[in-house]
Amino acid sequence: MASTRTKNRNAFLCMDCKVDTGKTSEYYMLIDKVWYAVCDFERGMLCIDCIETRLGRKLTKKDFTECFLNKLTFGAKSAKLVNRLGRIA
Ligand SMILES: [Zn+2]
Repeated sequence: MASTRTKNRNAFLCMDCKVDTGKTSEYYMLIDKVWYAVCDFERGMLCIDCIETRLGRKLTKKDFTECFLNKLTFGAKSAKLVNRLGRIA
């Protein structure tokens, strides 16, 4: 029996490794060009490790949108996400 809560959590699961990106604090927005290079759907979640595997490179500051979600001051962020948000190249 799937509860609404379980259904909601599913939206946060990494599409590749199924880690809960809400729990690991790897929730972020990428610019369309980068996102659509690795994913055909508008919606979905990928943890940093999996998106970098799909991309074949590490994420940098330029890959993220100006969205409030990506601000270092907004919410919890994994050490890896903080690193990528500050990464120039
Ligand atoms: Zn993953």
